[in-house]
Amino acid sequence: MTKTPTTLEEPAEPRPIASPLTRLGDARWILITVFCAAMVAVAFYGVPFSAVLVMMAVLGVVTGLIPRRASSRRVKLNAQREIRRMWPGTGMKLTVDALPTPCIVADGRGITRYVNKQAHAAYEGVKPGDPLSFSLRAPSLLEAFDRVCTTGEAERINWIEKVPTETWYEAHIAPIYMPGSAGQDRGPGLPDFILVVIQDQTENRRLERMRTDFVANASHELRTPLASLTGFIETLQGPARNDPEAQDRFLAIMLDQAGRMRRLIDDILSLSRIELKAHVRPAGMVDLSEIIRHTADAMSPVAADLGVDIRVEIQNVPARIKGDRDELIQVTENLIENALKYGHQGKFVDIGLSEPSGDPEERAWQLSVRDYGEGIPPEHLPRLTERFYRVDVESSRAMKGTGLGLAIVKHILTRHRGRLEVESEPGKGATFKVTLPAIENAAGIPDQTSV
Ligand code: ADP
Repeated sequence: MTKTPTTLEEPAEPRPIASPLTRLGDARWILITVFCAAMVAVAFYGVPFSAVLVMMAVLGVVTGLIPRRASSRRVKLNAQREIRRMWPGTGMKLTVDALPTPCIVADGRGITRYVNKQAHAAYEGVKPGDPLSFSLRAPSLLEAFDRVCTTGEAERINWIEKVPTETWYEAHIAPIYMPGSAGQDRGPGLPDFILVVIQDQTENRRLERMRTDFVANASHELRTPLASLTGFIETLQGPARNDPEAQDRFLAIMLDQAGRMRRLIDDILSLSRIELKAHVRPAGMVDLSEIIRHTADAMSPVAADLGVDIRVEIQNVPARIKGDRDELIQVTENLIENALKYGHQGKFVDIGLSEPSGDPEERAWQLSVRDYGEGIPPEHLPRLTERFYRVDVESSRAMKGTGLGLAIVKHILTRHRGRLEVESEPGKGATFKVTLPAIENAAGIPDQTSV
């Protein structure tokens, strides 16, 4: 916790001259005591009452008119009040410390008075006693701070810092008036303290941008086949009304476009379903080798159509993992389908499953799907799992791709605590490797998952 400098706790200002009324107030007990003694003298020693009145009047005038410094107690109280205006009290510090975001308390002159732990961690240079502008340099923040000092109205501002990386900030700047302080008497224009709460909004902005990009991409992907469908419907209603040959041709294209829209909607729904349960780890036990064999068999007609031979090299032992069977089928299906679609020139697709080894805590099964096609240029590798990212849009569309397959794979693997790695050398094909944590317990595998 910040230590308050002693120089500010003990102001060395001269005591001010008290007003006559204040002086009378200060001496009230002495005057009352003298009056009581005089009344005793009137009662028991025959002193005339008029003499007492004259004496009290003289005493009152003398007490009220002789200039005197204000009482040291009053000075101390005033000094303490002044300190309270300059340094936040313990209550304020504890409250600011309890907040989860970086908070800085400054006074009306822009001097930092208190910094909570989060602000210490986020802004190393920020120190109590220093002007706020020493550590926070964003011009919009400092301008807003000045406005709050003069208007006394809270403000919320946003700004971006480009160096070292693009970071979005949001700051809430609010005036604080201490109860009974001079600041409050002077009206709302001059707050005693100003609370600056700063939040890093980069992650929120990134998610927001991802969401808007996704909606824009999805609408764009849907609009293309929709435009094509509309165009053909208009042609069928107009020029091709009496042309059965053209009608057959156009209806086949329309069916293809409708299929493209259906695939896109299916993939979007699939992605959003997986995202909904992204943080829930699957509870079921499955045999990964059975899932791979099952999928490879299911894909064999597609492979035959493309003239590709799928070679499965998997040992005859169950590969037990915690997982969701349907989702893992979707993973293997997407990877094998991609190898067939984009690597069919290589004529072979090799599927392997390596057994877990090493530290029991880190034992994992590794599935690999290798093709011998054109491969993927290295600059595309880091972006392959982004939604709607394609190396070549035309070839993806020609192969009935949606650009969402690997995004779905990545989300499923994240939920399964797994990971995806891609290795590729252009001209020599690509290898997609899926790593999934192993489970040694055989008893957990339900019957329906066995071959
Ligand atoms: P799509 O539906 O277009 O296949 P994916 O997300 O499955 O979308 O794949 C994204 C892109 O990655 C594909 O468009 C393709 O360009 C590239 N890609 C995926 N797998 C392979 C592969 N085995 N060989 C070459 N390129 C691939």
